[in-house]
Amino acid sequence: MKASVTVLALAAGLVIASQAAAAPAPPAFPAAAPNSIVTATATVAPMQIKQVSDRIYMITGQGGNATIHVGFSEVILVDTKNAGTANFNDLVGRVRWATQLPIHTVIITHQHGDHSGNIGQFTAQKVPVIAHEALAAGLARQPVAAGAAPPALPSVSYAGPFYTVRNSFGGTEAIVHHFAPGHTAGDSVVYFPNQKVVALGDELVATTPNIDSPNGGSAKGFRDSLAKVLELDFVWAIPGHGDNPMTKAEVAAYKAKWDTFIARGQAAVKSGVTKDKLMASIKADDLGWNVTTPIWANPARVDALYAEFSN
Ligand SMILES: [Zn+2]
Repeated sequence: MKASVTVLALAAGLVIASQAAAAPAPPAFPAAAPNSIVTATATVAPMQIKQVSDRIYMITGQGGNATIHVGFSEVILVDTKNAGTANFNDLVGRVRWATQLPIHTVIITHQHGDHSGNIGQFTAQKVPVIAHEALAAGLARQPVAAGAAPPALPSVSYAGPFYTVRNSFGGTEAIVHHFAPGHTAGDSVVYFPNQKVVALGDELVATTPNIDSPNGGSAKGFRDSLAKVLELDFVWAIPGHGDNPMTKAEVAAYKAKWDTFIARGQAAVKSGVTKDKLMASIKADDLGWNVTTPIWANPARVDALYAEFSN
């Protein structure tokens, strides 16, 4: 397992090197950090920590990507991986590889379990867990299997457009933005202005995106939120899924895909395509997206998209 981790790290290093060549004055990217704790399974990639800027690291594997900001006296963590004590311990172990400073604040980008899975592990230790108010509502609405405990809720819910996370000296460390409901109703985008890094959760992914319409997601919300993200001064964007950070140009290209996808959807509805043919009629292969998978064919999601594309 260690050998394959090394191979992945080398491959990732090559990709990063080619990105760095195109980016304006990018920070140096070391290859993936050596991993002292490996909890590999046959099907899910083990966690890996990579340095993105002086004070920012991303942690891939075992769920959506997590991000940490190592401040002068404390750590901010964005997202918490799939639920489970082993994942929680592994995640904290990766943070400990980067720093011994305490985790002071946790921010959750959206309600899905691969990002919000270990909220309860942090609230149990009295670490503030911050999320948009629609995230808490979404988690509380989630069906709970018989005999299972309901998901733990964030300890701090913010309403409105943003929430500022300050360090112990009162300085602004992170600005948690809710620009629009895109992936879900309660999306947060976490901006680290001093590092020029932004963590987008699943509003940015390296694969086909996913609009969770039953939980308030929206194609136009995706587009509008990404437009706001592009107004921020950043060098690197951390996607919710994908092994590497992305440049601002890559985020702009991704936002342009949404513009194209929405325009094609609107044209399809205008031309009289029926709901059952909608997804098959929207060309997306040239965007690198597959929108004919079962998750996109879910009737509740098609209904929502059809309504969005109708005006
Ligand atoms: Zn998600």
